[in-house]
Amino acid sequence: MFLTIIQMILFYALTGTVGYFAFKKFKEVYDNIKMGQPETIDTPLSFRLKNMFLIAFGQKKMFKITFPALLHLVIYLSFVITQIELIEIMLDGATGQHRILFHYIFQGNILEGFYRFVVSFIEVLSLLTFFVTIVFILRRTVFKINRFNKPEMKGWPTKDGLLILAFELTLITFIFMMNGADRALQLQGDPHYIDTKGFLLSNFLGHSLMSLPHGALVMMERIGWWGHLSMVFAFMLYLPYSKHLHILLAFPNTFFSRPEPKGQIRNMESVMHEVKSMFDDSYQAPETDGEIKFGAKDVFDLSWKSLLDAYTCTECGRCTQACPANQTGKILSPRKIMIDTRDRMEEITRNRKIHGPDFTDNKTLLNDYVTSEELRACTTCNACVEECPVNISPLNIILELRRNMIMDESNSPQEWNTMFANMENNQAPWQFSMEDRLNWTDDLNK
Ligand code: SF4
Ligand code: SF4
Repeated sequence: MFLTIIQMILFYALTGTVGYFAFKKFKEVYDNIKMGQPETIDTPLSFRLKNMFLIAFGQKKMFKITFPALLHLVIYLSFVITQIELIEIMLDGATGQHRILFHYIFQGNILEGFYRFVVSFIEVLSLLTFFVTIVFILRRTVFKINRFNKPEMKGWPTKDGLLILAFELTLITFIFMMNGADRALQLQGDPHYIDTKGFLLSNFLGHSLMSLPHGALVMMERIGWWGHLSMVFAFMLYLPYSKHLHILLAFPNTFFSRPEPKGQIRNMESVMHEVKSMFDDSYQAPETDGEIKFGAKDVFDLSWKSLLDAYTCTECGRCTQACPANQTGKILSPRKIMIDTRDRMEEITRNRKIHGPDFTDNKTLLNDYVTSEELRACTTCNACVEECPVNISPLNIILELRRNMIMDESNSPQEWNTMFANMENNQAPWQFSMEDRLNWTDDLNK
């Protein structure tokens, strides 16, 4: 009884602490996304739900590459379905009981078999996930799949990917340790460990472990239980620092998918009014307050949707793999654009925490993270947008940065500058004045 109370106190203390720090960091991510500019996405609810269910929940775009999609599906299903067992673990922790849902809801009635089926299914998925995780590790470390070995993956992105895979292996080991020892204790007849009649895989473990001393089995079961819970808590704390945040953000990101057909580039409001006034003297541009901005220089100038995109990026590299600029040896990688955008947001937050909310570090996403060489290499082909499994648009960020680079910094090749000057003066890319524009018709009726 004493040990149970100690464990309950520990459970509440740990849950409260983890909940507090996880909430704090998730709130920080939310605030970072909110520091972006407004963007209206006024799509019908049915369109949003369809995107979310097909692309985030149904993994539709993942299946453009079948083998990794199948592997990913196993891990994804395992992650989702394991949460059912986690509910019971949390309730057990909070009440100091053991298999509370089985005891009060499922035991001794028609639903008992259903409970056994669900936990057995979780065990089978967990075992499959164990092997799939090893395949994922091998793909990154031994087979060195090309898209995981691009320059932007050096350092933290690779470590992040491997760390989470190691997490998974450890978590699954704890699940089998917990269920196996639990079953052995049931077979030994300990009344605290209610007889579930065994689950598909841990039943074998239980039978092979049941000859161990009772104390050793209790210790093993507790290590498995606490180990499982600790990995879940560690994952919650780690998630907002990791590319694995896509597990959660893929849902809102696909829900708020942009409606335009790929290839349609949004007009710049400020330029659109300017052009309309050129063609129509009576056109009245709306009043603006403050300076007119062209494109984006830093993350604050990007829309909230682009910032949500950056936090949702899974760093899978499908965009970079499909990018014709990258394929032909240019420096551009759309995945790097997403990583840079996220890193820049995190840098701003870190600085503000250390130096106060008004601190500026005189750095910008444009130039300090993304270079003009990268931006000029983009052909705006949309292949990256098409390939992304979670409907991210690296192109949107590239376009905004490029607009600023060209229209604000005038950082464009000389040939382009001549063309821009002609457009400004002659309202056409050529060096003919407006009056001479129809000269070519003079000879038509001769
Ligand atoms: S739009 Fe630009 S970044 Fe995207 S694939 Fe095409 S060239 Fe690459
Ligand atoms: S932008 Fe999309 S395709 Fe590119 S790395 Fe991120 S998730 Fe993958």
